[in-house]
Amino acid sequence: MIDMEKQDGFMRALKCRECGREYPLAATHVCEFDFGPLEVAYDYDRAKKSMTRAAIESRPRTMWRYAELLPIAGAPTVGFQVGFTPLVKADRLAKRLGIRELWIKNDTVNYPTLSFKDRVVSVALSRAKELGFKVVACASTGNLANSVAANAAAAGLKAFVFIPHDLEQGKVLNSLIYGANVISIKGHYDEVNRLCAEIAGKSGWAFVNVNMRPYYAEGSKSMGFEIVEQLGWRIPRHTVVCMASGSLLTKIHKSYQELVKLDLVTETPFKVHGAQATGCNPITAAQKSGMDFFKPVKPDTIAKSLAIGTPADGFYALRSMKETGSASDDVTDDEIREGIKLLAETEGIFAETAGGVTVGVAKKLIASGKIPADDSAVLCITGNGLKTLDAVAGHAGQTREIRPSLREFDKLMEAEPQLANA
Ligand SMILES: *Cc1c(COP(=O)(O)O)cnc(C)c1O
Ligand SMILES: [Zn+2]
Repeated sequence: MIDMEKQDGFMRALKCRECGREYPLAATHVCEFDFGPLEVAYDYDRAKKSMTRAAIESRPRTMWRYAELLPIAGAPTVGFQVGFTPLVKADRLAKRLGIRELWIKNDTVNYPTLSFKDRVVSVALSRAKELGFKVVACASTGNLANSVAANAAAAGLKAFVFIPHDLEQGKVLNSLIYGANVISIKGHYDEVNRLCAEIAGKSGWAFVNVNMRPYYAEGSKSMGFEIVEQLGWRIPRHTVVCMASGSLLTKIHKSYQELVKLDLVTETPFKVHGAQATGCNPITAAQKSGMDFFKPVKPDTIAKSLAIGTPADGFYALRSMKETGSASDDVTDDEIREGIKLLAETEGIFAETAGGVTVGVAKKLIASGKIPADDSAVLCITGNGLKTLDAVAGHAGQTREIRPSLREFDKLMEAEPQLANA
């Protein structure tokens, strides 16, 4: 499909975000000099030649239509079907939130495991295979474990997924069913992550979000590329993104900049606002008080997929928001449930807790004028509600139970006439 003539595709090197030193395109993620995170550098001039709007539009409707800007050397070998999820015009939700125009980027239906993590995992596993790995692994708050387990199964790779012990049943079963080795750690995510860093150092495995992190993280850009194309090649004025490590937010920012660099879209001002749960808000707390650094927290929230107390990209997420003049906020467990219900009742989309965070924060940002009411915004809804049923059980209303008789039904409607009201 795309001419990957060079050995490394369109990748040039791994480059330190702090000092700019360059490294070979191996499974490494930190600079040896200053411990800065490594990021993939591309040959943009060459990418520009093959990446025209017409060329992109003629390719399959998956995230791989932007392959020149994704960090693999050859054709993808894992997750061919991932991405190009619907961008839904959300008029009914717009009305309820009091904004002129609203869009939902709906990754609740991403393939194959119903969250945006399929984007990062298909990239990381495709790259892991290129680098010769046979075993893949991750430290996860749930969705990443699901996606690594499923995509590894389909690719014939062995998988180890490490999770905190208190995850939702749905997320645990969704990893076990694919035959992955699920290691449950008696600790919170930050302890899981630290253990994984130690194991990664000596195991010879591809930890997608540790030693493979430079490649993995780039997969998130595809969400931003798709939003711009689906809006008719326009950068949205406002994008609202929920944050765990903060990586997705920084990569959506980067995706808009790259499309400008490749002349695929006109440069217009944009903001990418961050959303967290109040029970785990290291990034939004720092942003709201104007700090450049976050203070680690101990998570206590129903939004378990976002429960990272020491976010790896928190510093860069703060820098991104500062650069674009963006805002952020956080919401309580009750507001998260309200956000889930509001999105479901107005648009027919059932999001997990992370989606409730995004909707709840968008509501606050619109109410406070940080997203002006006469403007347009995109909400990134990143995971499916069927995986976090525990969070809404007992909060979603109740069934009416009757015997199978018309008389009983008539009686019910007589007793509760409001059920039939529009
Ligand atoms: C992992 C995750 C995020 C955020 O990921 P980052 O670490 O900030 O890139 C958002 N939503 C869901 C549902 C997730 O699983
Ligand atoms: Zn460096």
